[in-house]
Amino acid sequence: AKKNGRDDSAMFDPVMQEKLDYSTCLDKELRQSLKQKDFVLYYQPQYDAKQNLVSAEALIRWNHPELGLVNPGDFIKVAEESNLILPIGDWVLSEACQQLKKWQSDPQYQHLSLSVNISAKQIWQKDFVAGIKRIVSDSDINVSKLKLEITESILLRDINGTAEKLNDLVAFGLTFSLDDFGTGYSSLGYLKNLPIDELKIDQSFIRDLFDNKMDLIMVKSIIDLGKNFGINVVAEGVETEAHFEILKEFGCKIYQGYYFSRPVPVSEFVTLI
Ligand code: C2E
Ligand code: CA
Ligand code: CA
Ligand code: CA
Repeated sequence: AKKNGRDDSAMFDPVMQEKLDYSTCLDKELRQSLKQKDFVLYYQPQYDAKQNLVSAEALIRWNHPELGLVNPGDFIKVAEESNLILPIGDWVLSEACQQLKKWQSDPQYQHLSLSVNISAKQIWQKDFVAGIKRIVSDSDINVSKLKLEITESILLRDINGTAEKLNDLVAFGLTFSLDDFGTGYSSLGYLKNLPIDELKIDQSFIRDLFDNKMDLIMVKSIIDLGKNFGINVVAEGVETEAHFEILKEFGCKIYQGYYFSRPVPVSEFVTLI
């Protein structure tokens, strides 16, 4: 549409228009789906070095009326931009807590911890801490098994306020995991200022472990860092036996990836034990 560069700001841009239509429409559909609770949580198992199933990550799927199951990569960003991530995030947490409650009343599943992804947008809300406490208290779970996964992006705003919120929730009994570790822009300084219990090595480093010397060094360094700080390290995106073997050699504690299992509905998850 744009031919000359001058004074075309008001000109119709079909590509942009399409994007806008797409996202407003997505937005509307998400809103509708939220009312109808058209979401579902999948669970991906996490194993220790001896391949005992020790924990799970809850991952949302959107059960779209026409498209079927939609992955979060296709809607979380729009949900964050429209703030719909706030009610969606509440739904995720409450659903995950109900699941955890069930596991905690069954000796076979009692030992499991459950990780839930929390968007930075949620954490930046004034009533974030109160909201989490309310949902967790309502579900009557043993809080120590609930882990919240956050990313370095939370540090883009109000670092002190954020640290305070996390500390408050740690005092309440929750633990925090730092997701996609190594991909953010922040310095390591936050590791000593934030109450982080676990680091998740981003899957991009694991993927190229054998093709890229830098990635190999990076992965080994993160595992050593975890040991030195007394922080558990989870390797994400473990796709092959070779990945698993070398990570074990490096002393990684927890493993998650397609080599073991994809994220699955809860009915399938319980058969993995
Ligand atoms: P994430 O938190 O980094 O989650 C891990 C993603 O990697 C998942 O994708 C999982 O299916 C995928 N994965 C696991 N193992 C492997 C593997 O071995 N190989 C490969 N190639 N991929 C693997 P998924 O479920 O599509 O989720 C994508 C992202 O969407 C998540 O990345 C997370 O950032 C976001 N997300 C998912 N659920 C939620 C949620 O409830 N709330 C929020 N705020 N974000 C969520
Ligand atoms: Ca995650
Ligand atoms: Ca991750
Ligand atoms: Ca990611």
